[in-house]
Amino acid sequence: MKYVLITGGVVSGLGKGVTASSIGVVLQACGLRVTSIKIGFWACFWDPYLNTDAGTMSPFEHGEVFVLDDGGEVDLDLGNYERFLDVTLTKDNNVTTGKIYQSVLDKERKGDYLGKTVQVVPHITDAIKDRIEAVALIPVDGKEGPADVCVIELGGTVGDIESMPFIEALRQLSFSVGKDNFCLIHVSLIPVLGVVGEQKTKPTQHSVRELRALGLTPHLLACRSAQPLLDNTKMKLSQFCHVEAANILNIHDVPNIWHIPLLLRNQNAHHSILKQLNLLSIATPPDLE
Ligand code: ADP
Repeated sequence: MKYVLITGGVVSGLGKGVTASSIGVVLQACGLRVTSIKIGFWACFWDPYLNTDAGTMSPFEHGEVFVLDDGGEVDLDLGNYERFLDVTLTKDNNVTTGKIYQSVLDKERKGDYLGKTVQVVPHITDAIKDRIEAVALIPVDGKEGPADVCVIELGGTVGDIESMPFIEALRQLSFSVGKDNFCLIHVSLIPVLGVVGEQKTKPTQHSVRELRALGLTPHLLACRSAQPLLDNTKMKLSQFCHVEAANILNIHDVPNIWHIPLLLRNQNAHHSILKQLNLLSIATPPDLE
């Protein structure tokens, strides 16, 4: 199984869900079978929450609940995945802090840890890794057998206390699956200060530094900005974030989110991702027309 992890930096609501779905579309257009996992809840400030599912959370505060075919009440991003990728997800494709803690506490009550001290590391992190690896194998496109690539979206913003066990688990996962099987795409913001009128790279530099301090290195940057990135902004990002210029993607504001897969295809995002996952020899160039 190959994994593409999408993390977010600087602010929430950047479009991680839409970016993850669009990357899935581009990979599908290369002939690959794609599944997806969303960690946490909602496009908002505090995910991943402790809630087990979305059904117990106020829609006034968090937006709509998306109900899956199996009755799972989940994060609305799973609706994006189903629409973009034409897949039928299960409630297990929404991994939440509540579900993970519940499973570890149930095991502890049953005595499965045989008197050991139960801790966030390794017990919670192992439960996260095991769950991701198991859910990635569930076929979601009506065909037999597991998909080729699992796109994982980590809710929240890098550095949130709530997502720390997930970051650590994903760091361990990236190490155990090996570098040819793991591609990390960090979605970040490139603001423009009104008076200065310049695209600012510093917030992205800081969030990449934070990610690195936690042991994860981004292979691609997906930069959200109002207008397309200027060449010198790209060069600066490449130099200071240690990411090849060809792997710096620009997802500027578009009038319709269905343009985003095309935006990614036009920047050869598939080439950078397939190269990182060592899939260039088996995938065909995308046709999204
Ligand atoms: P996140 O997962 O980072 O919280 P979402 O994927 O839910 O963010 O996106 C937040 C909002 O921004 C959604 O309404 C989405 O349609 C919109 N959006 C995302 N990317 C773009 C873009 N490139 N241009 C315009 N709107 C976008």
